[in-house]
Amino acid sequence: MTEKRIDGKAFAARLRERIGERAGEFAAKAGRQPGLAVVQVGEDPASQVYVRNKHKATVDAGMESFEYKLPADTSQDALLDLVEQLNLDNAVDGILVQLPLPNHLDEQSVIAAIAPDKDVDGFHVVNAGRLATGGEGFVPCTPYGCIMLLKDRLGDLSGKDAVVIGRSNIVGKPMAQLLLNENATVTIAHSRTKDLPDVVRRADIVVAAVGRAEMVKGDWVKPGAVVIDVGINRIERGEGQKAKLVGDVDYAGAEERAAAITPVPGGVGPMTIAVLLRNTLVAAHRREGITLAGDGL
Ligand code: NAD
Repeated sequence: MTEKRIDGKAFAARLRERIGERAGEFAAKAGRQPGLAVVQVGEDPASQVYVRNKHKATVDAGMESFEYKLPADTSQDALLDLVEQLNLDNAVDGILVQLPLPNHLDEQSVIAAIAPDKDVDGFHVVNAGRLATGGEGFVPCTPYGCIMLLKDRLGDLSGKDAVVIGRSNIVGKPMAQLLLNENATVTIAHSRTKDLPDVVRRADIVVAAVGRAEMVKGDWVKPGAVVIDVGINRIERGEGQKAKLVGDVDYAGAEERAAAITPVPGGVGPMTIAVLLRNTLVAAHRREGITLAGDGL
């Protein structure tokens, strides 16, 4: 019997290995490694951890990592100048500006300044539009990772009843769009949804992307459903003890009824960086006009 727990960590490790092999093949053909530029403004502690992890994963996958650490008081113009310079730099295939930016900076106009074909985060409106209309672009990493896990577990998603809880631009909305592209019947639930437990109870696929610890209870889950928990919530455990991470789903309760479920940590989380590398690899191939066989990897 297949294990109920969907091991995103192991899946992501295998994906990163395949990406590493393809990056090597790309370098042999193009005479350069795929390159990812990561821009961080200020010293937000969580962002620093993410940026460090991205750098290591990029180098481990045989890609070049360009890091730009700018002071917290960097002006909007200076940041836009850097983005423009990276847009023009041929060694850079992907550009990621680590969010959140300090309050005085306008995130939307910074994202809008990134060349859509280097927007490996998939946040640019052009890429959101391409996802919505079936064009070839970049999809935000976290929902793309979720759809990979779902397809790996379920195969064909066609006709499945899917509920996405959360409607953010970076997770909920692109997630719903990806499920629709796989011919699922999709409901997007959010903070104003009425009778959320009943909405969730009819779903074959539940994706929770809310940011509320263990909000989705076990008895909301239809027996046999597949549950993808995107939430990352820190529960402080008092002096001297490390905070605990929990998802948006009550794992113990949901696991009893679900056919499969992602844990937190070790489920969706590790997929995000792996897909960022995948998007960078795809960007490099597109920019050099080199075919990447099976770019779903
Ligand atoms: P967000 O705050 O932008 O959006 C949350 C969404 O939840 C909103 O659309 C809101 O309508 C909905 N919501 C809020 N309260 C609700 C309620 N009571 N009932 C139903 N819906 C409700 O958050 P986000 O950026 O989409 O992230 C969601 C969660 O996923 C967070 O915990 C975040 O940390 C996590 N996350 C994880 C990764 C990863 O790599 N695993 C990546 C991005 C986000």
